[in-house]
Amino acid sequence: MITFRSVDKYFGKFQVLKDINLEVKKGEVVVVVGPSGSGKSTLLRCINGLERITSGELIVGDQRVGDKKTNMNKLRSEIGMVFQHFNLYPHRTVLQNITLAPIRVRGATAKEAKATAMFYLEKVGIADKADAYPSQLSGGQQQRVAIARGLAMKPQIMLFDEPTSALDPEMIGEVLDAMKKLAQEGMTMVVVTHEMGFAREVGSRMVFMDEGRIVEEATPADFFASPKEERAKLFLSRLI
Ligand code: ADP
Ligand code: MG
Repeated sequence: MITFRSVDKYFGKFQVLKDINLEVKKGEVVVVVGPSGSGKSTLLRCINGLERITSGELIVGDQRVGDKKTNMNKLRSEIGMVFQHFNLYPHRTVLQNITLAPIRVRGATAKEAKATAMFYLEKVGIADKADAYPSQLSGGQQQRVAIARGLAMKPQIMLFDEPTSALDPEMIGEVLDAMKKLAQEGMTMVVVTHEMGFAREVGSRMVFMDEGRIVEEATPADFFASPKEERAKLFLSRLI
């Protein structure tokens, strides 16, 4: 579903991604970890074209990201992204937040979009909040709305960038549970998170980044049992 081949990315003279090689297959959940500033968010943002790669190849589905022939709007609509901050529209209800893009981008009718929205709200366990405004919801509920909003576009891939980092501890579980369910249903996911329990339980693979490089890639079992890289060891020891 996603292939990085020798991808480099610069911001001006600063090289933020260095020779990234990574493959994510359909149905895999790849968990990306690493210190702050190591390039995790940039890696995700390249996948949906929010950032442009400087060199190398990045293929998503059967499309080359950034290629003139690639319809980036279409590609983006096939990739859902959930951020640390939920970015919901404050003056729209939960339902409106979710139906907006399917109606505008996918050309869904209001009725279809509502049915789809309710289906995904049900899935993340907050169908009863459909008519509420974001400010009336807890952080965990808002993040689940953001997940439902991503899913309502029926994406092939879901990207998560520290989806629980801004949440109070008691709300982290409900968001991770929604993500877990999604993974079990076979969604292809790339997840940047410090939630090592989630990584261990749900991850197909761990990718550890440091200073713009992937310095270790392993199954969660191997990664946690014996990280090979000193930097990964140090990183893990600080989390626990
Ligand atoms: P992470 O998500 O791992 O914390 P980021 O991908 O956000 O890392 O950032 C990696 C590095 O790139 C950081 O040093 C950051 O300051 C820099 N960076 C990120 N976005 C930009 C930008 N738009 N312009 C310049 N530098 C950036
Ligand atoms: Mg980040």
